[in-house]
Amino acid sequence: MDSNDKVEWLMKYKAMLFHLIIQSQKNLVTPEQLVREWLDLLCLLFKTDQLKLYRVEHLYSACIEVEKIARGEYASIYRAFTVPFLKGENLPKEGNLGFQFFDGDELYLFLQVKEALLAELTDEELSAFVQETNAFITFIKQMNFETNNDKRYKELFNVTEKFHSSLDIEYVLGEILSTLERVFPKYTYHFLLAIDDRYNELPTEHFNFERASEEAMSAYINGKVQLEQRLGRKSSILYAPLMGKQGVYGVLQVKIPIEKQILESEKGFIRILANTGGSAIEKAKLYEQSRKLIADLQLINETSHQLNSTLRFTDTTQYLNDQITRFFQASAVGFVFINDGEVEILPGSSEFFYERQGQRYIEYASKRIQKEKDSFFVGELAGKLEEEHLLYHSLMVVPMVQGNVLKGFCIVLKQEAYGFTFDMYKLLQSLIHHSTLGLTNAMLREELEQLVITDYLTKLFSRNYLDQSISESIEKDEKGTFLLIDIDDFKAINDTYGHQTGDDTIIQVAELIRKITGEKDIAARWGGEELAIYFPEKSLEEGVAIAEQLVASVARSTNPMVTISCGVSSWSKEQPISVKVLFNQADEALYKAKKTGKNKVIVCSNNH
Ligand code: GH3
Ligand code: MG
Ligand code: MG
Repeated sequence: MDSNDKVEWLMKYKAMLFHLIIQSQKNLVTPEQLVREWLDLLCLLFKTDQLKLYRVEHLYSACIEVEKIARGEYASIYRAFTVPFLKGENLPKEGNLGFQFFDGDELYLFLQVKEALLAELTDEELSAFVQETNAFITFIKQMNFETNNDKRYKELFNVTEKFHSSLDIEYVLGEILSTLERVFPKYTYHFLLAIDDRYNELPTEHFNFERASEEAMSAYINGKVQLEQRLGRKSSILYAPLMGKQGVYGVLQVKIPIEKQILESEKGFIRILANTGGSAIEKAKLYEQSRKLIADLQLINETSHQLNSTLRFTDTTQYLNDQITRFFQASAVGFVFINDGEVEILPGSSEFFYERQGQRYIEYASKRIQKEKDSFFVGELAGKLEEEHLLYHSLMVVPMVQGNVLKGFCIVLKQEAYGFTFDMYKLLQSLIHHSTLGLTNAMLREELEQLVITDYLTKLFSRNYLDQSISESIEKDEKGTFLLIDIDDFKAINDTYGHQTGDDTIIQVAELIRKITGEKDIAARWGGEELAIYFPEKSLEEGVAIAEQLVASVARSTNPMVTISCGVSSWSKEQPISVKVLFNQADEALYKAKKTGKNKVIVCSNNH
């Protein structure tokens, strides 16, 4: 180089660097190309093709030309370079010209140049060269860093966009994972979740508070990213909280191989991503909760609505049973009334409660509810019931209270232990609270109806009900037989033993009647000491046979002994008659029986 050249090589270098910078600012070159062109430029400048660039850390992940230095080599280079450049043979690496540049980390350039050229290069020139290069490297670093960051934040933006449109936690966690794996492929990831849900397709685990490391706990509790480094371990672990606005939903665990040093910028990225994930989980959870609340309200609303419509009592309990079974995935549902300490299982309850083991549950629940007068729920019943093998392990019991009086309770069982959540328990309380009135109303209504159709003394049906039933039967059946019964010489019973015994005698006869009548037959008190039975679908002969039996059994088993007289009439599709005629005919027959000696059955003459 002559002196002109000397001035010029630096000028040329500066100009070329400037050109590269301009190109990259116009986005015409990538950081990789920039480094490559810079290296080409150096080859040209120093008239050599033997050039090596080394660095300790790999900030320039994009700079493929840059080799990483093993630890041993690094130590020797580091010791040798106490100045920005070295000339001569004693360099720690191949080449006779070496530079150390600063870019935060150490960057070393080695060249093998011709001896003649080496001799010509002055210290000032080399210092100026280092200075220019440092400025350029700072620029590349900045640019490379920004490009990487740009890429990451673009990813982050994409992923956040997706989160905002999704309420599916599994999907959100999946997206976080694939984003992280794309951006930092060398790390491994795990979600330690403090929520109940499990996702089999994802690397998730339950956040174990007892076994978690100090750093993991600290990340969870303080909501800050924590780094766990232990001597002798193959990896260090980063914990980033999955943090929403209202709480932390778990921790993202990132395993970093020990040879890697996680950078602050990477930490920041992971932190933001984990936070975004936390917010998404929170949003999905809140949505889930609000949907659950709406469903709960719907259940209560729908149920009270149904109960307030005029359902039969059994339909009411059956309906409630169905609702509870469906909503709580219950195994058995029971409704129990308590009357003066006496327990009555209501129809509509699950079959199980009528079984022997079912009774144990009822006993346990009724004892506790009468003592505590409040709802309770038990996650594990083993040891609480005097039973060896429990069929059901979890239980909820809610009292039915009306006007401050304990009417009974609802008992709900599930096979597995801890099968009911606290939310379910609260919901059952509100459901029963809202249903009790409907339930007791239905019950009262039915009691009242029963009262109207039942005779208070004999508990047989009332006359009204008998009339109505016979009319219906004549409408829809093929035939039927009617018995009118009068106790013989009843006045004498009253006179001899008093009215009380008289009443009791009527009851005795009623009991005998009850014994010989089936479920479809209508046994009624006709009035006074007169009773009646109607047999739908029974012929005259069948009716007479039963009447004969009855007459005999009354004479045999009443005390004081009484006899009865009985008039029988019947109808069939071939000989349809009105209720009134049916009664009159039986009455006539009865009259005949009285006239002809009593204690007998007489059939209406028309029926012969
Ligand atoms: P007969 O064999 O002709 O039927 O003679 P009888 O004494 O039974 O005569 P009748 O049927 O005319 O009289 C019925 C009596 O039964 C009249 C009434 O005092 C009495 N009696 C009616 N209802 C009751 C009742 O609910 N309890 C009691 N203790 N007595 C009643
Ligand atoms: Mg009479
Ligand atoms: Mg009589």
